[in-house]
Amino acid sequence: MSFELPALGYAYNALEPHFDARTMEIHHTKHHQAYINNLNNAIKGTDLEGKSIEEVLKNLDMNNMAVRNNAGGHWNHSLFWEVISPDNKGRLSGALLDAIIAAFGSKEEFMEKFAAAAMSRFGSGWAWLSAHKDGKVEICSTPNQDNPLMPGVGNCGIPIMGLDVWEHAYYLHFQNRRADYVAAFWDVLNWNAVEAKYEAATR
Ligand code: MN
Repeated sequence: MSFELPALGYAYNALEPHFDARTMEIHHTKHHQAYINNLNNAIKGTDLEGKSIEEVLKNLDMNNMAVRNNAGGHWNHSLFWEVISPDNKGRLSGALLDAIIAAFGSKEEFMEKFAAAAMSRFGSGWAWLSAHKDGKVEICSTPNQDNPLMPGVGNCGIPIMGLDVWEHAYYLHFQNRRADYVAAFWDVLNWNAVEAKYEAATR
């Protein structure tokens, strides 16, 4: 069974005016699809074929750049689509709110630190909010399509929220204004989905 492009739970234009339809469509059907195609080609006929994406990442040979870049690209984008939504009615609450206050002092301070991680990532990469088994959360950032599930990327836990800061994620609409794109992320972030991922990561 090859990896397949996951369907979005919303239309490409559903996140307007924050994330524009053209970027969403190209990002999903071209960029994410390309990672999947390249991943399927890279693992064809190897013992990675048929493994889950999490298994592929956990046992990754970091020197195998084709698998590293494309397995990361597939997992990272799949998470990204799940934590954004036009039904942005979720409010941060419960155990995740408590963990964020414990780690950062307040939701506002968390948002500032997360935005700083997204802004200070030089070139292409991702900003993450990750959870540890004991319930602690932390912010980290990785280059390219790396993520904290990969061996040797750091002890950052399981990502429960991720922001793509590759230019392909924002250039059509925001051009060089990454800060405006990061600000728009909060308008489409689905806290309910992040909370569900927090619960799954700390269960
Ligand atoms: Mn992307």
